Amino acid sequence: MFDDQCIVSQRGNKNSVDPQKPYGWIVEQERTIKGKIEETGIIFLTNRECPFHCLMCDLWKNTTDEPVALGAIPHQIEWALEQMPEIKHLKLYNSGSFFDTKAVPEADYKKIASLLKNFETVIVESHPKLINERCLHFRDMLKPELHIAVGLETVHPEILRKLNKQMTLEDFSNSIGYLTKYGITARAFILLRPPFLSESESIYWAEQSIDFAFNAGVECCTVIPVRAGNGAMDYLLEKGDFNLPDIHSLETVLEYGIGLKKGRVFADIWDLGLFSKCNKCIDQRTNRLINMNLRQKIVSQINCTCDSPKANN
Ligand code: SF4
Ligand SMILES: [Zn+2]
Repeated sequence: MFDDQCIVSQRGNKNSVDPQKPYGWIVEQERTIKGKIEETGIIFLTNRECPFHCLMCDLWKNTTDEPVALGAIPHQIEWALEQMPEIKHLKLYNSGSFFDTKAVPEADYKKIASLLKNFETVIVESHPKLINERCLHFRDMLKPELHIAVGLETVHPEILRKLNKQMTLEDFSNSIGYLTKYGITARAFILLRPPFLSESESIYWAEQSIDFAFNAGVECCTVIPVRAGNGAMDYLLEKGDFNLPDIHSLETVLEYGIGLKKGRVFADIWDLGLFSKCNKCIDQRTNRLINMNLRQKIVSQINCTCDSPKANN
């Protein structure tokens, strides 16, 4: 069982970041809640690291040790928006929880809201324990519709505990219940193959987690294949307690989620090469996943020599 101290002790160095600049931004296509395929921007805000220390998380790498100054977050958003093309939807991802006041000071909400007034949708992320009246307060200042993404990770009770997320399934359900009660659209992040699971178990638990998230009231689920690179996960990889998931499993889970027709289900498509050992079909599979993400329909399967059951144990 890994605790905060043990997880932190496995880390390498943080990257050097500028508290006045986001550490990145991108624009990508996403299927919107209204069913249109539109450009969505993501600004990766630089701020103090998340107070939780989840076993699989590597987001601390681009954070500061101390809270950033008042006004830094609005400045970062303004800077990024000047570089970005005109878009209608924006994700503000801050390597933690937007409603952690040591990451994003509450006194900055007003300025942030005024910078976002021309958007249709704004999506932020939060740990369930930080979902409270602050979300409503921020929502009330915003002209665009606010969506909040919450990490469910897995509904496997033992693994969820081992992830050190400091959250129960009840915490997740309560936070989604709270958001939906007040008319805020919720999304869930779901892990594909957290540590301590075999490939087939990981498919089962990711599918169970999608079911649970939709039953709790989320409108959208994003399935994220787990990777190493944060120290603790590399240690588990070496010990054989963790293996990278296979791209075939991501396809299976995405097909399952879309087939439910309960809401949008996306596969995270960053770094997909990590999850395939086959050079012959990786591009086709990546395109298939992108296609399914955008169309929210199951598209024809790719046939390849890597499809043998052995490759998928
Ligand atoms: S709550 Fe989210 S950002 Fe914070 S450590 Fe866990 S996974 Fe990372
Ligand atoms: Zn192949």
